[in-house]
Amino acid sequence: MKRRDFIKGVGAGAALTGLGVSGAASAAVQFKWKMVTTWPKNFPGLGTGANNLAKLITEMSGGRIQVKVYGAKELVPDFEVFDAVSRGTAEIGHGAAYYWKGKSEAAQFFSAVPFGLTAQEMNGWLYHGGGMKLWEQIYAPFNLIPAAAGNTGVQMGGWFNKEIKSLDDLKGLKMRIPGLGGEVLKRAGGTPVSLPGGEIYTSLQSGAIDATEWVGPYNDLAFGFYKVAKFYYYPGWHEPGTTLEAIINQKAFSALPRDLQSVVMNACKVVNQDMLAEYTARNNAALNTLVNKHKVNLRPFPDQVLKKLRGLSEEVVAELAKKDKASKAIYESFLKFRDQAKAWHDVSEVAYMRARSL
Ligand code: CA
Repeated sequence: MKRRDFIKGVGAGAALTGLGVSGAASAAVQFKWKMVTTWPKNFPGLGTGANNLAKLITEMSGGRIQVKVYGAKELVPDFEVFDAVSRGTAEIGHGAAYYWKGKSEAAQFFSAVPFGLTAQEMNGWLYHGGGMKLWEQIYAPFNLIPAAAGNTGVQMGGWFNKEIKSLDDLKGLKMRIPGLGGEVLKRAGGTPVSLPGGEIYTSLQSGAIDATEWVGPYNDLAFGFYKVAKFYYYPGWHEPGTTLEAIINQKAFSALPRDLQSVVMNACKVVNQDMLAEYTARNNAALNTLVNKHKVNLRPFPDQVLKKLRGLSEEVVAELAKKDKASKAIYESFLKFRDQAKAWHDVSEVAYMRARSL
């Protein structure tokens, strides 16, 4: 190629690239996707995380994929998101895997396991420890592709209308707590209730439930739980680093060209990281508001209570592993990763956090 032609070629390429960027908003829409979510529309952190995912997919695809977000109940009820995306009513959904234990018990490993993995560890397991492949296998029969698409970090233990001094105080307690944490509460003598976020406040206010967990200070402040429960306990032993998920309809995904498939999966990765960053940044300020402005009684669970809950948790998770072949394989992978992560984090994260507080 002559030098002059080469320069011309570069010029034409640059012009095309320029056109592609400036023309992104007006590029022809090739795919119109609906996103259904288990969160109230625009709910801080979770709902806005879903909004961000939709926005990123549209932006990164140069407008070729347009995603319209529906809050809980706008298109389908909160807990029908999985079915809606599975049958193709919507192309993509945003929620949490433990809501789907009725479909697959093993799904619970991919949101939160009591005394399980932190956010950092979940991402390590999913992306580089074999977790993603196991998750894909259990969703495949439902025509769904999962992706990690958000993380709350360590959650709070929850809101209670009385002090928790021993395990006995959990007996007879009716608490909103989903997934495996709920099963642990049941073994401790309580009654777990699964309620979507939008219904918790009124249930707590009316006395239909005695306690609830939700997420952490940022989200809990937004829901106003401090107005209807006196005690705020930590840590969230039941949800040490909850992964939120995007679920994508297999057929809709297969219809995308390779570059757009990459856009969708990488947009999920961006949101997965960004949501954790947002929670990290906002929880501090919200906790300060709860304690200093709203005079919330912030309490740690007594060590004895945590030790007993940990014992019950190990039982519950081991029993889950016995339910089917998939659960057993996931449990083994999960446990092996947790042991290694603990050994490493004892000499890194934990040791550093301790050193910082000396
Ligand atoms: Ca929670």
